[in-house]
Amino acid sequence: MPEPLKNIKGTQDILFEDNNIWQYLELTIHKFLNKYGFSQIRTPIFENTNLFTRSIGTQTDIVSKEMYSWVDQGNNNLTLKPEATASVARSYIQHKLGKKNPINKLYYIDVLFRRERPQKGRFRQFNQFGVEAIGSKYPEQDAEIIALAYNFYKGLNIKNLTLKINSIGSPEVRIKYKEALKKYLIPYKDKLSKISQKRLETNPLRILDTKIDFELEIIKNIPPIIDFLNQSDKKHFSKVLELLDSLSIKYIVDNKLVRGLDYYCRTVFEIQSINLGSQDALCGGGRYDYLIEELGGKATPAFGFAAGIERLILALNEKELSLSKRPDIYIIITDDTYLSHSFKISESLRSKNLVVINDMLRRSLKSQMKDANRLNACYTIIIGEDEIKNDKIAIKNMDSGNQDYVSLNKIESYF
Ligand code: AMP
Repeated sequence: MPEPLKNIKGTQDILFEDNNIWQYLELTIHKFLNKYGFSQIRTPIFENTNLFTRSIGTQTDIVSKEMYSWVDQGNNNLTLKPEATASVARSYIQHKLGKKNPINKLYYIDVLFRRERPQKGRFRQFNQFGVEAIGSKYPEQDAEIIALAYNFYKGLNIKNLTLKINSIGSPEVRIKYKEALKKYLIPYKDKLSKISQKRLETNPLRILDTKIDFELEIIKNIPPIIDFLNQSDKKHFSKVLELLDSLSIKYIVDNKLVRGLDYYCRTVFEIQSINLGSQDALCGGGRYDYLIEELGGKATPAFGFAAGIERLILALNEKELSLSKRPDIYIIITDDTYLSHSFKISESLRSKNLVVINDMLRRSLKSQMKDANRLNACYTIIIGEDEIKNDKIAIKNMDSGNQDYVSLNKIESYF
């Protein structure tokens, strides 16, 4: 016998009732984002590799070591999407969406791939939903989207939410800040991890993402980036905070929040839940005013975020949602002579949006009854020789045990 095959590390099969929460969340996401005027965009699962090297940046973990890339039979360098923003931006430019509409408020629910070390809440194939509002440079766009993200989680009753927010300023501010950070960190260089030592040269901002205790100690007193912002960056940031205050949304200004990707500027934010453990980020995002231009489009400001769905499921209290699905009716027939009866009844009941199960294994009456119990059906309908002869079909309420008898042509109106 050949060895049975297994799924790839960091991927998962989602089986049976575990799908209830996925279906519920997908529907909730669509409804919720439509309320804010966002419309869905679907982009391909793979793209040209250079879309990601150009947008995410070669210094990042994603591009340097986590992408699933290959050369196809036509010698094209292709990559499974590690994040969706670059694809949305590519599509925006390609279809000239900016010409059709001065503001494009888009959202996606997508599957992404990163070759990270799998652990709780971290997969190699994972799902995100996210929004990208392309066209507005104003702080109200930042505040609307941050409030949207926060209220989404609140609406799902997720406890222990923390909204962290920061401004990383304009690109010229960041150049100055990187220098200041480097100056601050150089005396500690030998104490830093190998990777941070490298980052000190390539992108010292990334050191602030560290989770290592002794590095956290070193960066405790870094100069805050807020002190380096120019006047218009400062004005922008205080308007964002003022609007969040007006909605009574609590936040922490965290001067170490810089986000991993190169294309962010000004406002960045992250929502965490301590329910999640070490992988505590539910979502993250911010302003990316230079990405569209970087990818060959006309300079267009934008704001967005991406949210992990597996993490959301980990943080949720599924019991509170009571998502279990029961079939409304299980039709039991005593032998295959009555198949056409059960088929007709099932279809007419389904046309009334009822969930109806028929046995496909020609099981005994007793086994069908057992199966109806296993599935927790609300009602069973029994069809056999006597029932048809007397035109008296038994309908049993499985919760109360009560049984009614109706004629064949009255079954549909009974429900
Ligand atoms: P990012 O695209 O890295 O900004 O991530 C946005 C969100 O996606 C994170 O806050 C997580 O909720 C989720 N996420 C990122 N990477 C993974 C992963 N490997 N597995 C599961 N969820 C992830």
